[in-house]
Amino acid sequence: MSRSFDVVVIGAGPAGYVGAIRCAQLGLHTACVDEWRDADGNAALGGTCLNVGCIPSKALLDSSEQYHKIQHQFPAHGITVSGAEMDVAAMIGRKNSIVAGLTRGIGTLFKANKVTSIHGHGRLMPDNAIEISDVSSGAVIETVTAANVVLASGSAPIVLPSAPFDGSRIVDSAGALDFEAVPARLGIVGAGVIGLELGSVWQRLGAEVTVLEALDTFLPAVDKQIAREAQRQFTRQGLSFHLGARVEAARVVGEEVQVSYSDKGGQHRLDVDRLIVAIGRRAYTHGLVHPEAGLDVDERGFVRVDAQWRTNLSGVYAVGDVIGGAMLAHKGSEEGIAVAETIAAGRGHVNYEAVPWIIYTAPEVAWVGRTEQQLGEAGIEYRSGTFPFAATGRAQAMNDPVGFVKVIADARTDRVLGVHIIGPHASELIAEAVLAMEYSASSEDIARTIHAHPTLAEALHEAALAVDARALHKAN
Ligand code: FAD
Ligand code: AMP
Repeated sequence: MSRSFDVVVIGAGPAGYVGAIRCAQLGLHTACVDEWRDADGNAALGGTCLNVGCIPSKALLDSSEQYHKIQHQFPAHGITVSGAEMDVAAMIGRKNSIVAGLTRGIGTLFKANKVTSIHGHGRLMPDNAIEISDVSSGAVIETVTAANVVLASGSAPIVLPSAPFDGSRIVDSAGALDFEAVPARLGIVGAGVIGLELGSVWQRLGAEVTVLEALDTFLPAVDKQIAREAQRQFTRQGLSFHLGARVEAARVVGEEVQVSYSDKGGQHRLDVDRLIVAIGRRAYTHGLVHPEAGLDVDERGFVRVDAQWRTNLSGVYAVGDVIGGAMLAHKGSEEGIAVAETIAAGRGHVNYEAVPWIIYTAPEVAWVGRTEQQLGEAGIEYRSGTFPFAATGRAQAMNDPVGFVKVIADARTDRVLGVHIIGPHASELIAEAVLAMEYSASSEDIARTIHAHPTLAEALHEAALAVDARALHKAN
């Protein structure tokens, strides 16, 4: 007899595994099916985020930043280090062991929460049956049934057909987390979050990095003033940006990659040792649903859902990257929680207005809410205040006085509409702004909140004061 569950989640990335745990917490008999395997062929939970995304990229960003600091920050502190060397294999090994530990941890969480973990490829059949097959052979292992199915199959890198990945010289983001040596010349297609983070890692370790970006604008989704500062800082570090440069093809010739691109000036060629193609991600729905089930997807391949994450199929929901929107781990996890609450209690909620975005470069870039450009286009009147980290004692003490905070508030109600940060620990500082927005705070609420001294958070405090032209440690 086939096993039957209240909920079967397909995919154990941050959307799926968190959703499965929440379902189990709410008393639902839950299974989570996942097909990911590590380099040794063992099942590895956690999806893109843990295996080849958020966590490994941050591990390498941290290692490379330490190395960079020894050379560029330590002298200012009076510390001389001679003979510092980077052991790339050890750096990759450290990253791999962090990933292994965290992915194993999800198995432990599943056990503790009584989520049944099933390794295999899950395929939704008509009438909410889920066929599970062996990842290598494709042979069907079992078919389970579920009252509710949650599709959380995530995303995959977009391939540039004329620059196909060869797993060695032309790679996607996953390949760029496993270079065995620092490439002398590294090309990156796409100046998005992933391209900038991976470019930073290898540039800090000594690669000459050239980023080719089709758009004329650098980081168009980011507040204009912040994007300008980010481009200035990254350029100063040695990253070379070609905006308005559309990559048309790339091919491996001998030991190098020849990249053809065009810009206003015509056709060009860039020769590099390795090329990372980071032009975005698409919904991953390969073999996920039997065609007879008739799942509705949009024109870009994302699974279409309503406000409660219901697909067009009865009892079938979808969350995370596979439904598009902000393709971020924490957005997927919140949807996983909310869909569990929808299934158990009829209603879940995600506040899409308060999703933080972070680029883990140095300086870090972080924001929540709307930009001045977006508010201008929407005709919403606003006031904004900025404050530079250079005017805080803490950033000076850290020898990292770079960047600034911008708080944007509604001109009529003073409600905070957006907070934008470029600077040290922006990824941590943004949490206060997210909480403020979640609580519908005004800029005056932040201005009247006591911020410890000396901290970087004082820059957020002062930026909120600056909305009302009353910052204390700068001229208004
Ligand atoms: P995924 O994490 O992609 O998980 C989907 C899972 O489903 C996978 O394990 C897959 O094998 C499995 N699966 C798919 N189909 C089937 C099937 N039919 N049967 C069984 N299993 C199946 N986001 C952040 O918020 N912060 C970051 O710092 C960050 N850094 C990133 C860095 C990189 C290099 C990359 C590539 C991404 C990064 N992201 C980051 C994005 C983040 O990884 C994704 O938004 C997140 O992983 C999406 O979660 P998900 O659960 O929707 O899907
Ligand atoms: P993101 O979607 O944030 O991951 O960023 C991907 C970036 O790649 C976007 O800024 C795109 O404009 C850029 N891009 C997409 N296709 C090309 C191309 N053929 N050449 C150069 N840049 C590209």
